[in-house]
Amino acid sequence: MNPMSNCSSYQNKYWYPRVAEDQHGEFCRGCGLEANDKSLPTNLLLDKINNDGDHTIKNNSVKDFQLLCHHCNKIKNPSKKPEDREMTQSEKTNLRSEKPLMEWCMAEIRGSKDGQIKFDYFVSEGSFKFDISPETIERRYYKKYLSVHAVSSPFTLWTDQFNVTYILLKNRESILDIDTHTPTPSIND
Ligand SMILES: [Zn+2]
Repeated sequence: MNPMSNCSSYQNKYWYPRVAEDQHGEFCRGCGLEANDKSLPTNLLLDKINNDGDHTIKNNSVKDFQLLCHHCNKIKNPSKKPEDREMTQSEKTNLRSEKPLMEWCMAEIRGSKDGQIKFDYFVSEGSFKFDISPETIERRYYKKYLSVHAVSSPFTLWTDQFNVTYILLKNRESILDIDTHTPTPSIND
C-alpha cells in the first residue's frame, strides 16, 4: 500500500514534525539519509509502519510512523501499478505539447490558402516547433486527432492522386477542444 495514498496534507503536517522529533531528527529510518535543505520540498516521506493506510490522529500514536526517503519507501512499499508513473509522464508531455501543437495545426489550416496543410509538414514542422518526436506525433496525435476513430476531432485527412496526405477541418466553424486529461493512446498500441 502506498503510505501517501490516503494521508491528507493535514495529517501529514500533523504527524511529520512529531515523528521527526520522536526519532530525534529528520532522517530516513531505512538508510540514514538526512533531510535536505529546508527551502526545498522534503526528500523524506511519512510512512505508516504497519502499512494499514490509517493516518488518522485519533487512531494512531507517533510510534506508528517513521520517516523514509523515497528510495527506502519504494522498497518497503512497492507500487502495485508501475504504469502510474508512466501515465503521469505522458500526461505531462500532453499538457506541455499537445495543446500548442494542435492549436498551431488549426491556425496553419485556417491561415492556408486552400484550407489544408500537408500531413508531412504537420509532423516535421510540429516536431521542430514544439519539441515533440515525429514518432509521437505520427502515432499518438495521429490516432487521437486524425484517424478515422477520432470522431470528435475537428480535423480530418484526405489523400490526393499523388499520394500526398492533407489535414483539413471537418467544417469551417470547428472548435478545438483539447482534453489533455484523457490519456492519449500509447504509442505501443
Ligand atoms: Zn532511505
